[in-house]
Amino acid sequence: MNTFDTLGLKEELLSSIKNLGFEKPTPIQAEAIPHVISTDRDLLATAQTGTGKTAAFGLPILQNIDIEDKSVQAIILCPTRELCLQVATDLQSFSAQLKGVKIAAVYGGTSIENQIKKLKSGCQVVVGTPGRTLDLIRRNKLQITSIRYLVLDEADEMLSMGFQDDLDAILAGTPSDKQTLLFSATMPKAIVNMCSKYMQDHHSITVMSENKSAENVTHAYFVVNNKDRYAALKRLADVHPEIFGIVFCRTRRETKEVAEKLIQDGYNSDSLHGDLSQSQRDLVMNKFRSRQIQLLVATDVAARGLDVDDLTHVINYNLPDDLDLYVHRSGRTGRGSNKGDSLILVNSRELRSIKSLEKKLGKKVSYEKIPDGMEVCRKQLFTMIDKVENVEVNEDQIGVFIDEISKKLDWLSREELIKRFVSVEFNRFLSYYKKSKDLNADRSGKDGKDSRRRETNSDQFATFFLNRGRKHKMNPKSIFRLLDDQLSSKGLEIGNIEIFKNHSLVEIDKDYQEEIERDFQNATYKGEEVTFRPSQFTQKNRKSRKKKNPHRKFRKNRRKNK
Ligand code: AMP
Repeated sequence: MNTFDTLGLKEELLSSIKNLGFEKPTPIQAEAIPHVISTDRDLLATAQTGTGKTAAFGLPILQNIDIEDKSVQAIILCPTRELCLQVATDLQSFSAQLKGVKIAAVYGGTSIENQIKKLKSGCQVVVGTPGRTLDLIRRNKLQITSIRYLVLDEADEMLSMGFQDDLDAILAGTPSDKQTLLFSATMPKAIVNMCSKYMQDHHSITVMSENKSAENVTHAYFVVNNKDRYAALKRLADVHPEIFGIVFCRTRRETKEVAEKLIQDGYNSDSLHGDLSQSQRDLVMNKFRSRQIQLLVATDVAARGLDVDDLTHVINYNLPDDLDLYVHRSGRTGRGSNKGDSLILVNSRELRSIKSLEKKLGKKVSYEKIPDGMEVCRKQLFTMIDKVENVEVNEDQIGVFIDEISKKLDWLSREELIKRFVSVEFNRFLSYYKKSKDLNADRSGKDGKDSRRRETNSDQFATFFLNRGRKHKMNPKSIFRLLDDQLSSKGLEIGNIEIFKNHSLVEIDKDYQEEIERDFQNATYKGEEVTFRPSQFTQKNRKSRKKKNPHRKFRKNRRKNK
């Protein structure tokens, strides 16, 4: 059996690992740790979150760090602030007994000054998001010319979030003899290109091939109207009484709403999203792991780091824009030798994504109907009956009462008795489903309007003005990236984005307006200050003044406000 002792790690690291309760290395650790300790060959690892990849690159880097040297020796780039913090915290715990090792986490949405101070104190390892890392390099506060290690963590995620330019700029300033370690959950063409661009003669490791896990997962989609999404979710949960799964939502607002409704309706449910503090998150995760929660409603980002092996279902309350995320979602079920189901709720307009999804998965995503009330009742009823058949009877304790009970029920026939026992548990269910309607929507797509501009609910969004537009090479991706880098809350709902020559208008979740304004005070993008503030100019009133230049109206208002 592989143990950590055989991998060549220092005593101090072995002792920390032991304290963390790691008994044996995960497959990726068993391969990557000796590789990085003993060679300087680049490494490409195909590994999903939850495989132990942080320790796979973190431990050997910490092992090889020159503690006497206070310059930056390793840069670890991560797509999000959350992952960045998670990786930095993990590295802190691994190095708890390595006196003199300093780790800095640098990410947007928080004071750059404090991060500069921390860097000045002499950190050998820097974990950062690409935007903030580049900003610090350009301000000459972060020297990367003599680093020995560069880690690209969740590289596919970084590319899909539009960080390619930032990565290019960062990598251009690093020495050619560094060791590059690239970790990616998926291997799209962009990653293959990235490898040939950034790495030389690399060694490859693949753990838990996607295909193997995908073999155990069945994918099915259901077509519903938006207004019936929640009712459809309930029916899917009810028709699988033993469900233990994650319901993925796109935004934190939706996540909260769905979980609240489920709790109100009596389900063992809770939500996991970016608004929770770390201790609240831990609490929810622990409850889920111990199965006190049957249905966890989560955003993609929040569910990262949650490693539960025996999920029966993943339910996609809606499809993610990026289908790679779907692959991550569905890969959370069907692990090991377990079977799993990934269920997708789509409306008729979203149907075309199913074809692209089938191409991506290389397997069929079958159409299924949301079950009707009768079917749900039948399933619930027989699950209950199975339980009655299999329940362990405590003869000693029941025996005390059995004569009395038998006497009392003497007047009922066997059939009448069964009916009554079933009804006690079941009446509420039956009455809920008695008048249940068909939730399946038309699959032809005729009932969906195709509109280039997304229909958004103007009550939900505030329109923000950004003083960057086409002239500054802004596109939706770069705007998302800017938001991701600056905002302290992640996963905010974004509505329409309109990009003009000199500026852009961005619809963003109204509930977070003040927080967004705070996050953008003194904000920078590519080393320059940017303005991002509420515009009095909503997308709605602009529509009614089509011919006028929106920017002109904004300027006029601004002057008036002075
Ligand atoms: P990661 O893939 O690095 O995000 O790690 C996923 C989870 O697995 C984290 O909670 C780690 O603390 C945990 N973990 C990593 N390596 C091991 C190990 N060898 N044994 C037990 N747990 C581990």
